[in-house]
Amino acid sequence: MGKVIAIFNQKGGVGKTTTNVNLSACLAAKGKKILVVDIDPQGNTTSGFGIDKDHADYTTYDLLINNIEVNECIIKKHRENLSIIPSSVQLAGAEIEMTGMGDREKRLKKAIDQVKNQYDYIFIDCPPSLGLLTINALTAVDSVLIPIQCEYYALEGVSQLMNTIELVRESLNSKLEVQGVILSMFDGRTNLSIQVVDEVKKYFRGKVYTTLIPRNVRLAEAPSYGLSIIEYDPKSKGAEAYSEFAEEFLYLEEDLDEEVI
Ligand code: ADP
Ligand code: MG
Repeated sequence: MGKVIAIFNQKGGVGKTTTNVNLSACLAAKGKKILVVDIDPQGNTTSGFGIDKDHADYTTYDLLINNIEVNECIIKKHRENLSIIPSSVQLAGAEIEMTGMGDREKRLKKAIDQVKNQYDYIFIDCPPSLGLLTINALTAVDSVLIPIQCEYYALEGVSQLMNTIELVRESLNSKLEVQGVILSMFDGRTNLSIQVVDEVKKYFRGKVYTTLIPRNVRLAEAPSYGLSIIEYDPKSKGAEAYSEFAEEFLYLEEDLDEEVI
C-alpha cells in the first residue's frame, strides 16, 4: 500500500513545488513508483513536469468537481515510474463550488484511496492557503512534509500550520503525522541561514532532515524547461541535494517499517 504525503506550508514561495517535483523525480529514478497530484490552481508542479496545464484532458478539478474517475485523470508514466494528475486554473473556483457538497472535505481522499495500492508514494502539492483544497489534501494523506525557507520569519505562520494539522487530526484524519521538515534555500555563507536551521530544529525536535537544500539558481531555471533538476543539470548542487534528500527520506522510511515489524 502506498504512502500518501502532502507537501504543505500555507506560506508561498518556500519551496513546496520545487521539493515536490524534485523529490518525486529522484525517488522515481531510484525505482519507486510515484504519483504526483497537483491541487494548486497555479499548477507549477504540472508545468514543472512539462505539461501544458491549459490542455490536459482531465485535471484535479475534474476529479474534485466533475466526478471523473481517478484513473481517467492520471497521466500515466509521464516519466519512468512517475505519473501525474495535473492541475487546472479552474481549481481556483473549486473551493466555492465544493462548499455545498456533503463530502466536501473527503473528495480527494475518496479518489486517492482507489489508486493507493498502485504506487509506493503519492505526493500532493498544496496551494499556499488553508482553504478547502488544502483541507482535502490533509484529509487524504498519511503525513505532511513541510518545506521551510531559510529566511527571516522562517517560523512565522508555523504555529498556525501546526494548529491546522491538529484540527484535521481531531476531526477528519486522526492518523495524520508530520513526515518531516525540509529546509530549503539554505545559504551556508550567511549567519541568518545557520540561525534559522537552529531555530527550526529546536521547534520541530527530531523531525528536521539533515539534508539542507541550498539556494541554487539551476533549481529555479529547471521548471521553465519542464524538467526536474536531475534531468536539467544532474551535476548541479541542487540535483546533488535533492538526490541526497531522497536517500535520507527513504532511509528514514525503511527505519519506520522496521519499527512496525
Ligand atoms: P512554493 O511552491 O512553496 O510557492 P516554489 O517551490 O515554487 O515555492 O519556490 C518559489 C520560487 O523559488 C520559485 O521560483 C523556485 O524556482 C525558487 N526556488 C525554490 N527552491 C529554490 C532553491 N533551493 N534555490 C533557488 N531557487 C529556488
Ligand atoms: Mg507551489
